[in-house]
Amino acid sequence: VEMKEVVTIEVGQAGLQLGNTVWEQYCAEYDIDNAGKQKVANSKNGEFRVFFEEATSDQFVPRNLAIDSEPSVIEEIKTGSFATMFKNEFLLSGNEDAANIFARGYNSIGRQMIDDVNDRLRKLLDMCDNMMGFMIYHSVGGGTGSGLGSLLLEHLAVNYRKKAKIGFEVYPSSNLSTCMVEPYNATLATHWLLDHTDVSLVLDNEAIYSICLNKLHISKPDASNVNRLIAKVISSMTSSLRFKRELDADLNEYQTNLVSFPRLHFMTTAMSPLISKMDNVTTDFNDIQILTGECLNPANWLVQYTTFDPLEDKYMAISLYYRGNVQSKEANHTVQWLKDQNKVVLTEFPVTGFKIGLDEISAAILETDDIAAFNKNVVMISNNTAIPRMFNKRVIQNFDVLYSQQAFIHWYTREEMEEGELTEAREDLAFLEKDYKDVLIERLTDDYTDDINTTDEGYF
Ligand code: GDP
Repeated sequence: VEMKEVVTIEVGQAGLQLGNTVWEQYCAEYDIDNAGKQKVANSKNGEFRVFFEEATSDQFVPRNLAIDSEPSVIEEIKTGSFATMFKNEFLLSGNEDAANIFARGYNSIGRQMIDDVNDRLRKLLDMCDNMMGFMIYHSVGGGTGSGLGSLLLEHLAVNYRKKAKIGFEVYPSSNLSTCMVEPYNATLATHWLLDHTDVSLVLDNEAIYSICLNKLHISKPDASNVNRLIAKVISSMTSSLRFKRELDADLNEYQTNLVSFPRLHFMTTAMSPLISKMDNVTTDFNDIQILTGECLNPANWLVQYTTFDPLEDKYMAISLYYRGNVQSKEANHTVQWLKDQNKVVLTEFPVTGFKIGLDEISAAILETDDIAAFNKNVVMISNNTAIPRMFNKRVIQNFDVLYSQQAFIHWYTREEMEEGELTEAREDLAFLEKDYKDVLIERLTDDYTDDINTTDEGYF
């Protein structure tokens, strides 16, 4: 059978660290050890080759390109517990960092690195039969993931126009923040994402940090606690690609199921159960309704909107991925219940609606995880019209404070960026907010009728 592969790209510190946490999760679920060896030879548990290249029999190499402007995080990988799993050729680092400035990542670092990046990507693609597309991990607040990441996305758009591009974007939180100009970087990167990813998972460090603090009782959460939670969500989201050999399992599905208007592709994600190992309670859920209700509670979301009104904040689309022993009948009943109880209110038009994924293989719980083991779980990926409130709170308001003082603008102009690019990006975010509002008052529909997706397979 022809294989359909996915290539992963990690850019910058957050990208590398998050990406590798996801690889750790995938390996645990496939029973692959840190050297890329299957622990039990030939135990064909799922479809490895979508995400891994089978180098020799039972030896698997992630289809992964790691890119950083400076060598330290890459060195950690080369000497860390996954040292032998990745090939050095695909661990790419420059030798000066992007100093947390988008313009530097995009321009000078970009110029130094982009040819090598393109070259390595070609090599990765040569090892694929029929690559479906890319998953890209990066933060928007720093300089490399944000700036070099945006340049990379531009190149992907030109070189691999028809391939799916799914972004996993870490948004800044004041609790984990490393620099003053994150609002500028995040604004610029989001402006690029609007045109260059098909689907973007908004990973709001602030929200995930709160989950670690409040639900998992970690007194001082760090990036690794946050990454491990995100990895659980991504694991459930991709399990149909990794385990089921369904003919229609395709990377394009996310866009088809979740996005009606190309720009409005910023997803809200959540999972349940979220119970701390420290709580010492049983987490065997039999009631799918309770499990799902939890998942739709903003306390479980990886994005914070500041406020949420389930009647006003409507969904354009929502996918629920169940893992463990969940019957489709139970899932269908639950969807009906969600609608009847107004826990999920869909926009009037266009209705891409609900999509359910079922996978009997549970998500692996690692020793290092903070959450308690479970027999079933559910992950939500949804396109909610309230997402601009997060952009506002986390990015735009802070941008406006800095910009009104003309603070740090010379850091950007010094790196070959015109001030106009900053204001243009800022305006674009204002338009985005308006576009989401227009969906609620049904004004967007006329211009966009050609883009409305009409697939109705699997919807309820
Ligand atoms: P870059 O290497 O220049 O792209 O810079 P970073 O990726 O370190 O970007 C800084 C932003 O990413 C800040 O908002 C950090 O809080 C966040 N960050 C850094 N490392 C991690 C990580 O491993 N996980 C998460 N979730 N966020 C991170």
